Amino acid sequence: MNSIELAGIGMTSQRTRERLIQRLIDQGISSQPVLDVIRMTPRHLFLDEALSHRAYEDTALPIGFSQTLSQPYIVARMTEILLSAGPLKKVLEIGTGSGYQTTILSQLVETVYTVERIEPLLRKAKDRFRKLGLGNITAELSDGSFGWEKHALYDGIITTAAPQAVPEELLRQMAPDGILVIPVGNGISQDLRVLKRLGNTAEFDEEIVEKVKFVPLLGGISR
Ligand code: SAH
Repeated sequence: MNSIELAGIGMTSQRTRERLIQRLIDQGISSQPVLDVIRMTPRHLFLDEALSHRAYEDTALPIGFSQTLSQPYIVARMTEILLSAGPLKKVLEIGTGSGYQTTILSQLVETVYTVERIEPLLRKAKDRFRKLGLGNITAELSDGSFGWEKHALYDGIITTAAPQAVPEELLRQMAPDGILVIPVGNGISQDLRVLKRLGNTAEFDEEIVEKVKFVPLLGGISR
């Protein structure tokens, strides 16, 4: 990838990105590492070319297959909450989508595991990880309703599609003192929930952070 592609031109330029960062700060995002990583990450590379001029607007954007790249504010907020649990070694993301949230995470934690149920989306996301030279991401086509048993336990789990209720499997795959950030609810609106596992116990502290709107967590895989 050449430097012009990475830096972006016109509406994808550094100045446009700076405006987005200011907007995130105004909305209450205070984690400097999160703001820095969002500033440095070329969001326009996660969209089809026809939409890339809108990449630094604080809005969700379509990525095909009725799915969306999450709004930057939500990506920032969820990442900030996740990191509040302390330095994280292993993080599981459910719903790779464009790979944007994965890319943000990969620059802030040791290893990211991510699963996506729609094969063409996963393929494109993996291509982006490779082009950006991100070596600490392991991505797989699978139904994340069951987490990803093979690499458990996780210090953090983040779900970017909304189930009706917190899947039991995810709770079982959390490391002691692990954290789960997950939107829960119906197709109209959901609560962003944060669950913290209390030490080595099977008990969790639960908090509702705010109202959010995500695509639904669906079962099975789609090629
Ligand atoms: N984090 C993504 C957001 C994509 S939208 C980004 O930054 O672009 C949520 C994604 O979750 C969609 O791609 C959808 O296909 C995926 N998804 C929905 N249900 C899933 C499931 N059970 N397992 C894995 N992925 C799922």
